[in-house]
Amino acid sequence: MKPNRQDLLVTRSAHELPAPYPADHERNLRRVKRRSRRNTILLLLFTLGLILYWNELPIPDLLEPEASVRDIPPVTGLHPIVAAKQNELIRLTEEAGITILITDGFRSKEEQDALYRQGRSDEGPVVTHAQGGESYHNYGLAIDFALRTDDGDVIWDLSYDGNGNGESDWMEVVSIAKDLGFTWGGDWASFRDYPHLQMDFGYSIRELKKGKRPPSGQDTSSP
Ligand SMILES: [Zn+2]
Repeated sequence: MKPNRQDLLVTRSAHELPAPYPADHERNLRRVKRRSRRNTILLLLFTLGLILYWNELPIPDLLEPEASVRDIPPVTGLHPIVAAKQNELIRLTEEAGITILITDGFRSKEEQDALYRQGRSDEGPVVTHAQGGESYHNYGLAIDFALRTDDGDVIWDLSYDGNGNGESDWMEVVSIAKDLGFTWGGDWASFRDYPHLQMDFGYSIRELKKGKRPPSGQDTSSP
């Protein structure tokens, strides 16, 4: 029997063109495996290089703010200039016939936190908007004052005129303090802090928190 044309074609293709698939597939598979092995090695080398490089890098302050703070000795009292100006303030106001009482000076972070709790989780009125580390008191750069009357009472009366010169004693103290280089919390736009006097020496709380400190010999009195 003579095979027809279609049978011939089938036979030819089956004999002369053996399925190319299995052999090529094996080869491709080997190539892919080789490539992935090479990529893994490259990735390992890259990672190793990165680790070695990273260890040699100086770590920027931004990533490790605690490290720079750790080296700074903690503030434990009033800045010497603030202390000197405070004593001058007491003397000058006394000369004007006003007795003041310094109710607060340096405040530790813990003391500030305790004060912050007052009026919030603790009883009493809110007296500060600053948490530990957020107040100039925590860096020895602020004091609070009150007036002491002739009877010995401690008052926070802004209109009291104890020396009888027709002016508010409180504002007289503020004026003398400003002449000494203090800024007054009563001038603040938001939370007015009338007993508060501070000298920041141009340092922001942010800078102080990062460990920057005004030099102890720096003079604030303008020429
Ligand atoms: Zn204060």
